Amino acid sequence: MFLSVIALVAVTLVIPMVAEAQLSSGGHYDAIASALAGFPVVADGEDDYTEWSSMLPGLDPHAVLGFTHVFASPSTSVYHHIYLAPPIWSTLQQIESAGVESVPQQDAATAILTLTHESYHLRFDSSDESRVNACALRDFGSVLVNQFAVPQTVEQSQSAPVTATVRVRQAIWRTIHGKRVRRYVYRYVSKTTYVASTVTVANPAYESLVSAAQSFVVSQPPPYNSGTCS
Ligand SMILES: [Zn+2]
Repeated sequence: MFLSVIALVAVTLVIPMVAEAQLSSGGHYDAIASALAGFPVVADGEDDYTEWSSMLPGLDPHAVLGFTHVFASPSTSVYHHIYLAPPIWSTLQQIESAGVESVPQQDAATAILTLTHESYHLRFDSSDESRVNACALRDFGSVLVNQFAVPQTVEQSQSAPVTATVRVRQAIWRTIHGKRVRRYVYRYVSKTTYVASTVTVANPAYESLVSAAQSFVVSQPPPYNSGTCS
């Protein structure tokens, strides 16, 4: 599967088709794409493959998860827009309404990485797929934390046994000079109590999303899987 930027596709060819397509733009993902890019970006999601195909002449629409026009002129309607494929957009919609954990982890990782990847084309003003993808993967964890409310660690309460030796007083009766007398003796006994505490542990959801993003990138063809973020 490709995360594709169509930087070199003639912009003039695409503009009228974009204008005709019924794209939905959610303010929520505009805000996230803008935060990722560092300036205002519009995230356009497609919900229909026929329309998606019409935006990608000559390409396999199912192989393209997202694209953007990196070098579009500010006077065009595609300037600082990113476009997201139907499965990516529907996953993001589901995440927005019910949280990251409401979708399969591989879907969530792919959608979030695609959103980040396309936003990073604009942030770095770069059509270098290998570098853009490497940077998106490098920052995937912080995107989870900062934009998707998936913390890296979670607090876990635990109850730990604490065993201590305590001195207890015990009354006994003795007979001294024929009289019954009460005396006290002290004994040491072992006593276990349970102490509640909170520990910070790795968040399993965070860990598995990060590893899902890594395996997604590894599964991509060059140049997507071979870059470094510098
Ligand atoms: Zn790309």
